[in-house]
Amino acid sequence: MSAENDWLDAVKWDAQGLVVAIAQEMQTGEILMQAYMNREALETTLRDGYATYWSRSRSKLWRKGESSGHLQAVEEIRLDCDNDTVLLRVRQTGPACHTGRANCFFQRLEDGAWVKTEPVPPARSGESASAGREVLDRVAAILEERKTAPAEDSYVASLYAKGRNKILEKVGEEATEVLLAAKDGEKDREALVSETADLWFHCMVMLAEQGLSPEAVLDELDRRFGTSGHTEKAARGGAG
Ligand code: AMP
Ligand code: ZN
Ligand code: ZN
Ligand code: ZN
Repeated sequence: MSAENDWLDAVKWDAQGLVVAIAQEMQTGEILMQAYMNREALETTLRDGYATYWSRSRSKLWRKGESSGHLQAVEEIRLDCDNDTVLLRVRQTGPACHTGRANCFFQRLEDGAWVKTEPVPPARSGESASAGREVLDRVAAILEERKTAPAEDSYVASLYAKGRNKILEKVGEEATEVLLAAKDGEKDREALVSETADLWFHCMVMLAEQGLSPEAVLDELDRRFGTSGHTEKAARGGAG
């Protein structure tokens, strides 16, 4: 056994030379699907960065998305404690399930029967939610810092210096840019994400200038969580 294949030999391949592989959406933690891999599938996956499995029904290698276009870009490959399950942490394009659902786990056991229901939703709390908070906190900390120790060429400091009206004008501009990008959002995902980031950022500057942190907004969202959007709107008394 050559040392360069040690990582492949470490996998506990079953009698058919297969190992269970689970694909998880990197960004949300969502469990997408389960399939099998043989050595070649795992090697191929590592080599070209897209998930390739072994199809037991068709007895052939199968690159996920080869016919549907719903490819899985693999960010990270993990192995479980007893080496018999591979975890692929991926960025999924489109739905992962061949039924067109976002993920394969849409059947739930209810009173002794499997009932078809919605696929598992992306995690709303836990790791990804707190990671989101951390990012916002870091940005908020810089926004505070720029108030007291304005760096020479700081964009944020220049916004503070120009005053509230200028900041509000920027929020308005960025909101318009989001709307323009969202009109054809499917054509340019990056533009929509980037414009939304601009808007969120300028909203944070707006809050910071008024002595508020994103924490206050997140707490408000948390408070509303569990109340349906419609109920919430009605409770607040209508428009918006
Ligand atoms: P695709 O890889 O998405 O192009 O789909 C090609 C074929 O692979 C489908 O027709 C299914 O037979 C199979 N397939 C795709 N996605 C899954 C999945 N999540 N679980 C099981 N089989 C799948
Ligand atoms: Zn364990
Ligand atoms: Zn295991
Ligand atoms: Zn499926």
